[in-house]
Amino acid sequence: MLSRAVTENLRQLVRLDAGDPADVSHAFGGASGGRLFGLDAEALAALMAQAGEPAWRGRQLAEAMYRQRVADLNEITTLPKSLRQRLIDEGWQVGRPQIAQVFQSVDGTERYLVQCPGQDTETVEAVWMPEGDDGENGDGSDLDGNDLDLKDRAGKRWDRATICVSSQVGCAVNCQFCLTAKLGLQRNLTAGEIAGQVIAIFARHGVEVGRDRVNLVFMGMGEPFLNYDNFMGAARLLVEEVGLSPQRMTVSTSGIVPGIERFAQEPAEVRPKLAISLNAPNDAIRGEIMPINRKWPIEAVMDALRQVQLRPRERITFEYVLLGGVTDQPQHAAEVARLVRRTGLPVKVNLIAWNPGPGIAYSMPQPEAVEAFRVTLAGEGIPTYVRKPRGRDIFAACGQLKRTVEG
Ligand code: SAH
Ligand code: SF4
Repeated sequence: MLSRAVTENLRQLVRLDAGDPADVSHAFGGASGGRLFGLDAEALAALMAQAGEPAWRGRQLAEAMYRQRVADLNEITTLPKSLRQRLIDEGWQVGRPQIAQVFQSVDGTERYLVQCPGQDTETVEAVWMPEGDDGENGDGSDLDGNDLDLKDRAGKRWDRATICVSSQVGCAVNCQFCLTAKLGLQRNLTAGEIAGQVIAIFARHGVEVGRDRVNLVFMGMGEPFLNYDNFMGAARLLVEEVGLSPQRMTVSTSGIVPGIERFAQEPAEVRPKLAISLNAPNDAIRGEIMPINRKWPIEAVMDALRQVQLRPRERITFEYVLLGGVTDQPQHAAEVARLVRRTGLPVKVNLIAWNPGPGIAYSMPQPEAVEAFRVTLAGEGIPTYVRKPRGRDIFAACGQLKRTVEG
C-alpha cells in the first residue's frame, strides 16, 4: 500500500510539465521586452520581423548568443547600434545564466553555482570534469593551476571534458540516497536556463565546438523527464544553434515511463543518448530506495526502453549506485546480470559507488565489493564501467548537488 503522501507525490510526478514555449507575441508592442537567450533562430527571426527588421537579423542574434557566447546586447556588434539600442529601450536583454561561484576540486573538477537572470535567491548547479592529460599543456609551458587564463587556448590543460547540467531546482522524485531529493522540487528550469549552463561553461573554458571533445550529461539536479519540454528544448538548442552532436549528450532518468515513451518519438538528429538509473537488482529493493518504482516498476521501464530506436552502435546505459550492504552484494550482481540480459537490449552498465551526503543514512561500498560487482557483470559479457568519483571534496559528485546561494 502506498501512503497518502507518496500517492500525492506520484500524482504530481505524472503530470509532465508543459514548460514555457518561447512567446514572442508581445514583442515590440511597447516596453515589454524580455530575455532573448533560449529563443531559437526561428523565434528570433519572428521577433526581428515584428520589429520591422529583416528576418536574418534573428540568425545574427542566434550566432552571437550561441556561437560567439556574447552575453550583453550592447556587444552584439553584428547588429546596427540603433537596433541594439532600440531592443534595450524596449526592455530586451540577452539574459543568459552566469556563473556566480566556482568551487575547484583537487582533481580538476569545478562545481558552479549558476545564477539565472531574475532569480536572486537561488542558484543551480553545474559541473565541469576535465579528464585526460592532467596538466600537460599544448605549448609546453608551465601553468599555475590557480592562475589559469581559462579562455586561452594555449592554456588548455584538458584533452576532453564532461559537463553535467541541472534540469530543475531540486527534485520531486525523492530517491532515498540522493542529496538533491532533500530540497524537494523548487521549480523547473527553462530551456534557456538549461542550455545557458552549458554556454556559460563553454565561455569559461574557451571550448571550441566541433574541435574539443566535450560530452554533456543531463545528470545534475532534477529529473529531466519531469521537465520534458524544457529539457528537450535545451537539447534542440544545443544541437541546432550551438552545433553539438546529440550523440555527445546523455540524459539520465529515474524511469519516468511517459517521458521515455515521448523521448522514443524524438528524431535521431536531436535525441541525446539515454541512461536509466536502475540502482537495484529487483522491484523490492528498488521500491525501497526509489519510491518512483512503485509507480513504474522495472518491467514497465524496460518495455518503454524497447520503443527507443537506437542508432548504430548506440547503447542504453544503466546506472547503478552501489549502496554498501544494500545493493552491492554478490547475489545482487548476479541478479542485475540476469535482468539486464533479459532485456535483449544493447546496454552498458555504469557502476557508481555511493557518494555520502549529510543526513543520508547509507554507507559507501567497499572497493572490493565494487570490483567484484564489475567482474560479475563483465563476466556475463555486459560492458561495465566504474565511474570515477569526481570532485567529492567540493560536493560535485553524483547525487551531491544541493547547495544554494546561502551556501
Ligand atoms: N534525476 C536523474 C538525473 C540526475 S541524478 C536520475 O536520477 O537519473 C544522476 C545520477 O546520480 C543518477 O544515476 C543517480 O542514481 C545518481 N545518484 C544520486 N545520488 C547519488 C549518490 N549519493 N551517490 C552516487 N550516485 C548518486
Ligand atoms: Fe531526483 Fe535523480 Fe536524485 Fe532521484 S537520483 S532524487 S531522480 S535527482
